[in-house]
Formats: sequence, C-alpha cells, structure tokens
Amino acid sequence: MSATPPPDEIRTEARSIEQDLDAAYVSFREQLEQSLAAAQRCLERAGSLEDHGLCARALTLQGNIAAHRGDLRSATRLAFEAERHLLESADARALVDVASLRSHIYFFTGAYAQALSYTDQALALAERSEDPLLRTRAGRAANLVLGNMQARGLRERLREQLQLTLDNGDRWEEAISRNDLACERMTAGDLAEAEAEIERALAAALRVQGPNRFALAVVHSSRADIHLECGRPTRALADTARSREILAELGDSNPYLLAANVRAEVQAHAMLGNLDAAEGAGAQALDILGDTMPRSRSQILATLASALRKGGRLERAYDALERSAELERQAFAEISELQLDLERATRRARTARRESTELAAKNQELADAHAELARRTGELEELQEQLLEQADRDWLTGLRNRRFLARELGHSEAAPLSAPFSVAVLDLDHFKQVNDRYGHAAGDQVLIGVAELLTQATRDTDVVVRSGGEEFLIVMPQTDARSAQACAERMRAAIGEADWRQIDPRLSLTASVGLASTALERPLEAIVTLADQRLFEAKRSGRNRTVC
Ligand code: GH3
Ligand code: MG
Ligand code: MG
Repeated sequence: MSATPPPDEIRTEARSIEQDLDAAYVSFREQLEQSLAAAQRCLERAGSLEDHGLCARALTLQGNIAAHRGDLRSATRLAFEAERHLLESADARALVDVASLRSHIYFFTGAYAQALSYTDQALALAERSEDPLLRTRAGRAANLVLGNMQARGLRERLREQLQLTLDNGDRWEEAISRNDLACERMTAGDLAEAEAEIERALAAALRVQGPNRFALAVVHSSRADIHLECGRPTRALADTARSREILAELGDSNPYLLAANVRAEVQAHAMLGNLDAAEGAGAQALDILGDTMPRSRSQILATLASALRKGGRLERAYDALERSAELERQAFAEISELQLDLERATRRARTARRESTELAAKNQELADAHAELARRTGELEELQEQLLEQADRDWLTGLRNRRFLARELGHSEAAPLSAPFSVAVLDLDHFKQVNDRYGHAAGDQVLIGVAELLTQATRDTDVVVRSGGEEFLIVMPQTDARSAQACAERMRAAIGEADWRQIDPRLSLTASVGLASTALERPLEAIVTLADQRLFEAKRSGRNRTVC
C-alpha cells in the first residue's frame, strides 16, 4: 500500500497548487511559456493528490493558452479533459473556467450562439461563487464574446467590470476593461469618449507593475481602430505597427489580435489610396496565420475585398471575397467537426462515468454479500464448535462423557499419559433406591449435585467424566497413589457430608471408589480396568469405601 500523506499536508499542497494556478492565470497572456510550464507542473501535482477540481483548473489554463495561440483543436481537447475531471468534482472555479474556455473556443470558431450560452453559464456561476477574483476573470472572458457581439447592456457590463478591477486594484485588468469600454464607445459613435477612454487604458497599461506588453499591444490595436474612425490613417498605422512590434517581442502569435491589426492596416492603406500596400498587408497576415483560424483569415479578406471594391479594383475584390467565402465554409466545417468532437467526447465521458458508478455499486453489493457470507460462516463455525463441544459433554451434568474420554485418552494411538497418573472409578451406592424412593427427577438432581461436588473436589488438570448412569471416572494426571487416595477420600466425604435436604429431607448418600495408580507409563485402559476391579471389590466388601 502506498503511504498516504496526512490530511494537513494534502490541504497545504492543494492550497499551494491553487496559488500557483491563480498566479499563472493572472499573467498567462503576458507570459505564455512560463504559464504553460506552471500549468503542466500544477496538473502533475494535482494528479498525485487526485484532486479533480485542481486538475480541471490546470487543464483549463493550458486550454486558454492554446486558444490564445489559435490552436483551437488542442484547446478543445483540453477543455474536454477538464470537463471529464469535473464529473468527479464540483469545484466552482474550475466550472467557471471551463465554461469560459468553451465560450472562447466557440467564439473563435464563429459559433456565436454557443459562445453566448457558455458565457452566460460562466457569468452565472461566477456570480453565485461571490469570489471577486473569479468574477473579474469570468467577466473579462465574457467581454471578449459580448464586446465583439455588441450585446445589449454592454456598456453597463463593461463599467461594472471596470469598477470590479478598480476595487481589486488590478491595473492590468483595468487597462483591458478601459480598452473594452473605448471600443464600445467607438462602435456607438461616441468618438470623443472613445479617445479619452483609450488614453486612460494606455495610462493604466503603462502603470502595470510587472509584465504589461500584451495589454499594451491590445490598447495600441484598439487605438488604431479609433484613429481610423476619426479619419487618421497614418496614426492608425503607427499604432498597429507598435502593436505588432510588441507581439513579436513577446513571441505571441495571438491570431485574434493579429487579424485585428491587419484589418486596421488594410483599411488605413486603402484610406491613403495605397491599395498595393493594403493587399500586401493582407497577404502577409494570411501567410502568418497559415491554415489556423479560418475565421480570422476570412475577416481579413472581407476587409480587403471592401477596400479593393472602394478603390475600383473590382476583379481583385471579387477574388478576395471568393476566398473569404471559401474560408467561411472551411471555418464552418471546422466548427462542426470541433462541435461533434466535443459532444462525442462529453457523451463518452458521461457514459464512462455512469458505467463506473454502476460498477462501483455492483462492487459494493458484492462486497456486502461477501461480508454477510463471512459473518454467516463465522456463525456456523461457532455453532459447529458448540455442537462438537456439546457432543463431548454429558447432557445432564455438563461433565465430559465417554465419547470425550475415548477420543482424547482412550485409543491406543493416543500419546500415553506421562507417569505418574491415577484413575478413580466412583459409583453411587444403592442409587436405584434413590430413584425408587424419591423419583427419577430427584435422582437427576442428585447426579447434577454429585457432578458439582466432584468438580470442586478435584484439580483443574483432573478430568471428571460421567462414564455411566451413576458412575464417574476421574483421571488424575501427575498424581501418585497417595495423592490420589487423598482425593478419593475428599470426593467420598464431599458426597457423604453434602446437604441433600433441598432434594429430600430424608436423603443421604454414599459412594464407593476403586482407585488405581501407576508410576510407569501405561495405557489408560489398563489402569481403568484395574480401578474397575477395585470398585467391584469396594462394593462387595460393604460399599461406602475406597479400595486402592
Ligand atoms: P450399587 O450400590 O450396587 O451400585 O447399587 P445401585 O442401585 O447404585 O446400582 P444399579 O446398577 O443396580 O442401579 C443403578 C441405577 O441408576 C439404575 C438406574 O435407574 C439409575 N440411573 C442410571 N442413570 C440414571 C439417570 O440418568 N438418572 C436417574 N435418575 N437414574 C439413573
Ligand atoms: Mg451404584
Ligand atoms: Mg452403577
């Protein structure tokens, strides 16, 4: 059996894993590699604790990192693995994190209805948990989906989120929240407020203690969009260039942000009348994205098509649109496949879970049946022992019987008694008369009484046997003739002097004893025969005596 650490140690280790995970979660967008390594270490540690909630959280963090890099397949696989752990645990943070991750996967693949549904689920779970850190995290994850979809009540949501980050004193989250608010204002057409807010976002991002480059890349990308809306394509290009530069330094291939930058660049070049540059920027981005994120690539092409159409390059605009449509189809196929994968996997996990529950129940039943069987076997064995014991005893007096004597001492293969030993055969005198005068029941009472007297008069090592009706045989190991004679006299005296008035006031009793001893090792039977002969002599010579 493996040694299980004491509960205190388990709790301390779980808390330490939790802290490491939270730290990695807070900074994963800024430190992808370190966070991934931390998440992998946490997964191992949580695994050895068999803490399913922590395993789910570690897997979800890895899934978030994969999704951030545009690797939606890995993200999907990780979300599923996390979900499998959640069948064994109702860890609130893990539940929120998995729901958020799934909403992002759906969002990035363009399955907006599912993205919204998981966003709702994550927000509701976070709200219920009353954990401020978790609410910020869920809110932040939700804003990616809700912000891009211009959901109703978005402005209030974003303001609440901002307030939450201010309350938590979290500059990084504050910068992102202000960024989201600026984008919301821009889309609403309030460009003055959008500009003011994006500057506040930048100021907050610059004041972050610790890594802030991803936040800066996000803010610069958004500010590029605002510049475009304000008709300042050159300044927009400066911001996208800065944003891309920061991402390159970070080694971060976040395809979502890349696509946003390229869309802005295509529009800026088009506004500057430089369609070649617009096409070049688009082509470069498509190169970088490779075959990941068809949705992002399609958006770049659609933006390019629009710019080309406005610039009069209808043929090329049409080409771009056609490619965009093809990518949409591809994206749709990928979504469907991913969804199927997810659903199948979830179903498999549920089935496995149900089967293992049923199996556990069956095992329990078997174990119960086994325990019951063991209990009954125990009872039977006890009963059997009692029966065996009873078979060796005389039913009336409880003394050993001839059967016992035959088995233990009588047969010739039995080890002979070590010398010296003595045997007494004691027979009640004229017992027939007791029965005749006082009745058979009184006779029985006398026999019970005599058995008790004999047991008291002998040692624990002596064996008292009721060998016949009113005849008793006493085997005395390690007893020479003298001691045996003393014992025989003690027994006779006990019977003769006993108070039998309870049975009948007139009753008196005597016994005759035949005694034989040996100083050599002899078979028991031979000594018993001798003792029997001497009993006969004692009877013949007048009874109430011992013959040695
Ligand atoms: P003796 O002095 O020669 O031994 O005379 P006795 O009457 O004791 O011997 P006998 O062998 O003639 O009679 C023994 C009697 O013991 C006969 C029988 O009814 C009685 N007896 C044997 N077993 C039991 C028993 O379990 N209960 C009762 N109440 N009497 C028994
Ligand atoms: Mg008798
Ligand atoms: Mg007799």
